[in-house]
Amino acid sequence: MEIKKLLEDSARYLMNTYNRFPIVLRKGRGMKVWSSDGKEYLDFVGGIAVNCLGHCHPKVVVALQKQAQRLIHVSNYYHIEPQIKLAKLLVENSFADKVFFCNSGAEANEAAIKLSRRYFREQVGVNRFRIITALNSFHGRTLATVTATGQAKFQAGFEPLVPGFTHVEFNDIDAIEKAVTKETCAVMIEPIQGEGGVKVPDPDYLRNLRELCDRHGILLILDEVQTGIGRTGKFFAYEHFGITPDIMTLAKGLGGGVPIGAMLATDKVAAGFEPGTHATTFGGNPLVCAAAVAAMEVILEDGFVLDQCRRMGKYFQKRLEELKKEFPSIVADIRGMGLMIGMELTRDGGPIVKSCMDKGLLINCTAGNVLRFIPPLIVTEKEIDHLIDALEQIFDQL
Ligand SMILES: *Cc1c(COP(=O)(O)O)cnc(C)c1O
Repeated sequence: MEIKKLLEDSARYLMNTYNRFPIVLRKGRGMKVWSSDGKEYLDFVGGIAVNCLGHCHPKVVVALQKQAQRLIHVSNYYHIEPQIKLAKLLVENSFADKVFFCNSGAEANEAAIKLSRRYFREQVGVNRFRIITALNSFHGRTLATVTATGQAKFQAGFEPLVPGFTHVEFNDIDAIEKAVTKETCAVMIEPIQGEGGVKVPDPDYLRNLRELCDRHGILLILDEVQTGIGRTGKFFAYEHFGITPDIMTLAKGLGGGVPIGAMLATDKVAAGFEPGTHATTFGGNPLVCAAAVAAMEVILEDGFVLDQCRRMGKYFQKRLEELKKEFPSIVADIRGMGLMIGMELTRDGGPIVKSCMDKGLLINCTAGNVLRFIPPLIVTEKEIDHLIDALEQIFDQL
């Protein structure tokens, strides 16, 4: 179909919830995507940290094809082979003992919120329900997770919000200490704030937070929806900090492109749920789990993907630092871990995203002035160089 007609129909039939760029993406392979008019783009957005192995990775595609022919969906009333296999993979490669599958990051966080409240009431026998989260955080768009999200702009108009959430400054352990009450059941935190502008905490923040939670007997929930699955150069971001959480949530990169979320916990905490207490129709469906198993196997196979992520992350940051030196009046800060990198600008990033798109490069801007680079973990030096050259040209002309 003609692009003009597609854009017209899009505006006519879809609810107006996204500020979309006026291109239609039709096809992808690895780092590349093509729009319906045949223009080629290098994709440094990667579906917002979703396409960890690039577009249409052959192993994920074959897994989907095979599973689609065998069994697409059955109810969680029955045991599901790919779901069991994926849970085993996640447990064997993390702190966790048990997994609950759902369909998105917000749902994973909802499950984490529900489990921590129920754990205290059912297992510990105390009425603890308050959850401390960080200002500038992002935990999702359902009513409870948007309440957990410490940004008023996502909450405006949806009041009354869900009771029981307290927001404190990120990367400030004293602020959490002051916010703890005898009603507090958990602290929920992103190891690195993503949507909030790629904010990396001090190296000892999470270690101190773990210690604080232990001292008060409260649960540590890590929202690794964005940082998980290799994004920061380790399979999970918590591995950088020498701690483990009580609960961890995953989604974005987990399925290699298909919609899936997961909430992982220790046996002790997972005991807060029993049959009938929490459920979802589609969660852990055979089709998405088969894709996720294929994606996880590629990432865990021989360490190549994680190694590439670490090396390319270093290289990327080095090249961005060079740009910062060259354009000190435009670039304020470079930060990140692995292939989750932010470049804070002294101005609105929107026009730069647009100029990159004209040059065949998809990048993302978050928090207004932070260019966020979250490419597939298989990105190469050459592709990074291509982006740096384009940014240099664009900055030159500002
Ligand atoms: C994207 C994101 C979410 C929400 O995930 P959805 O799949 O959009 O519901 C939650 N937490 C973090 C840290 C995220 O980056």
